[in-house]
Amino acid sequence: MENIDWRNLPFGYIKTDYNVRCYYRNGQWGELEISSSEQVSMHIAATCLHYGQESFEGMKAFCGKDGKIRVFRCADNARRMQASAACIKMQEPPVELFVEAVKKAILLNRRFVPPYESGASLYIRPLLIGTGAAVGVKPADEYLFMVFVTPVGPYFKTGFKPVNVMITRDSDRAAPLGTGHVKVGGNYAASLPAAEQAQKAGYATSLYLDAKEKKYIDECGPANFFGIKNNTYVTPQSHSILPSITNNSLMTLAKELGIKVEQRPVEATELSTFEETGECGTAAVITPIGKIFDPQTNVTYRYGEEAGPVSTKLYHLLRAIQYGDEPDTHNWVTII
Ligand SMILES: *Cc1c(COP(=O)(O)O)cnc(C)c1O
Repeated sequence: MENIDWRNLPFGYIKTDYNVRCYYRNGQWGELEISSSEQVSMHIAATCLHYGQESFEGMKAFCGKDGKIRVFRCADNARRMQASAACIKMQEPPVELFVEAVKKAILLNRRFVPPYESGASLYIRPLLIGTGAAVGVKPADEYLFMVFVTPVGPYFKTGFKPVNVMITRDSDRAAPLGTGHVKVGGNYAASLPAAEQAQKAGYATSLYLDAKEKKYIDECGPANFFGIKNNTYVTPQSHSILPSITNNSLMTLAKELGIKVEQRPVEATELSTFEETGECGTAAVITPIGKIFDPQTNVTYRYGEEAGPVSTKLYHLLRAIQYGDEPDTHNWVTII
């Protein structure tokens, strides 16, 4: 694509050539279909429209120095979508179907995979919706699984720099035994007020506490939380946290680098003890956190104007694996 300014791509939607779709009807998944339309036509009583039967995934494909296209932990995203589907009573797409659809969507839109030098990547968005009609509350009998892709720019255009975060005290994204542990759209709708509130106050994002006691750290809106102290990577454990594949990868890499890893309940008061903190997820791998403001106590926890050494090391190592610059010793990468 000669006319795309790869370096200045936003993290947004750009039309590509094709998307891939598969319908579940009459008790079975059909063939993968290729579409060049950006529209979906469905019944006005589809359960995704009324009762939130929707889940999605997010992953990236990267072009390496060798010109090969690599997708990161695709089968793990497939299994997470199955868990999301099961949790809200949707039909689970088989892992092979998911992986095949992702590969197809990438290959059909090959010309949109950003070149290695740009630091950009191809964002992949698999989506599962209940399309069967229901007016009473019940699971749909028909589903649509689709995958679209869109090229996205490097997340840190001005370098790997910390953002500021505000603790959310007056709303929750997920109930203690609710759907916080799965990737469903409803959690995101519930997180919009807190995100807007944080942004209006000048913060990049909100940090949620546990919904029951407001004592423990859950996660940031769309990303997991971690803190570093005494050569230890600490990340919260809770039923309402989405199990981030990036976080899981960082924990594995940290152990290999001789850093201790603790996944356990983390009290908000422990924020004062960390040397570094960060958010992690597919979009940015790691977003270092500079400051965390707690509106209840009026305390601001400070971690510095620059990313800390452990976050920086983990960030560069994971990115290098994704781009094929470091060996993939965990079989995380699929070459397309
Ligand atoms: C998707 C998501 C993340 C990040 O998960 P990754 O697999 O690392 O991209 C974290 N928190 C929430 C709520 C999410 O939806």
